[in-house]
Amino acid sequence: MAGAGPIINARGIYTDLGGSCLSPTVWAAAAQANERFYQLPMLLDQSGLAISRMLDVPAARVTPGASAAISMAVGACMTGGDGQLMERLPDSNGMPSEVLMQTLHRYKYARCARLSGGRIHEVGNGFGTSRADLAEALHHDRVVCVLHPAHLDGVGNTLTLSDVLSLAQPVGIPVIVDAAYMSYPPHWITAYRVADLVCLSAKYFWGPNSGGFVYGRPDLIDAIARIDFTRFESGPDLIFGRAYKLDRTSVVATTVALEEWLVMDHAKRWQGYMHKAERICAAASTATGAGTGCFTLGEQVVRQPLPQNFVPYRHLPSVAALCETPGTVNAAIVDLDSYDEAQSVAGRLTASEPPILCIVDGVSLVFCTETVLDGEEEIISERLRAGLAR
Ligand SMILES: *Cc1c(COP(=O)(O)O)cnc(C)c1O
Repeated sequence: MAGAGPIINARGIYTDLGGSCLSPTVWAAAAQANERFYQLPMLLDQSGLAISRMLDVPAARVTPGASAAISMAVGACMTGGDGQLMERLPDSNGMPSEVLMQTLHRYKYARCARLSGGRIHEVGNGFGTSRADLAEALHHDRVVCVLHPAHLDGVGNTLTLSDVLSLAQPVGIPVIVDAAYMSYPPHWITAYRVADLVCLSAKYFWGPNSGGFVYGRPDLIDAIARIDFTRFESGPDLIFGRAYKLDRTSVVATTVALEEWLVMDHAKRWQGYMHKAERICAAASTATGAGTGCFTLGEQVVRQPLPQNFVPYRHLPSVAALCETPGTVNAAIVDLDSYDEAQSVAGRLTASEPPILCIVDGVSLVFCTETVLDGEEEIISERLRAGLAR
């Protein structure tokens, strides 16, 4: 497996880079689960109950990531737990299967809605979506749900989540929210509780890369429970969700990581990121410019102080949270003279041992310190100093 790693990750939380690292507490809980056997159907029910209590939401269930949660949520809306329908999926011919999405909300993970047999129907156009557009689309009896990516809420002239809910819920159409990375500040996790189903990814709260959960309406969570990998051998229906399998270690790790996240000293966590970013900046004194800033989960580079009018999307919580917390820093931004120089310094860092992976943003290198482990900031500093000197 030479070449795969270990690497120094200065890009942030990415599935391709392993997600995040489990804390010693989470790792210990997973190790403990590994030592004995458990009844997985009950473990899934009970971890879901534990999460619903932690968050004070009606119901929840661990899933193998937010992608699987989206896929199974759509399947749950299509079947409502009906065994015969569940067995047919992803073949949804002849049954209602339309998943409404606003045109400006088209994004990569919409793909996951189609895995269960959902057919995406775009509403509105590239300029936006009106209430009349959505009301008209909701009118058809082939519609099963609306998929709303939380991080795109309010983009362009789209309908906000509250607009969507006000139209969909009265006609009985559930709204699924992809809130995959809306886990910070922690109270954002439940900011979407007005929706019918909300999907989160564990990678963003330092849970396992293969973990996540969905919370919301008890009847729909129950339908997801019937569609997931449990009770395939022991139950009556051969359901497609069997392929979305989870280890007991991942179920436990997801639950314990969330528990830890909710009581974590986040100010201290951010302080650590800032300290590392400052160390890296100090090492870049020979660069054209160097300063601390923020690399958001929406992959935007924010140079602080934030411009007064910096509101890229109206309801982008990760940025909203930053604006609430002046001095929030998780990145070192190093400016070079040209695109070529940025590419070549990044190339030298990647070629070093261990490889250092950072973000190239035009003429700048961005080092996201959220995933820089303790001590690695010194290695980055040393290699960066050497890389700039050439
Ligand atoms: C990472 C991510 C997902 C997928 O989550 P997994 O837990 O990796 O399946 C879905 N939506 C968004 C916006 C994400 O960032």
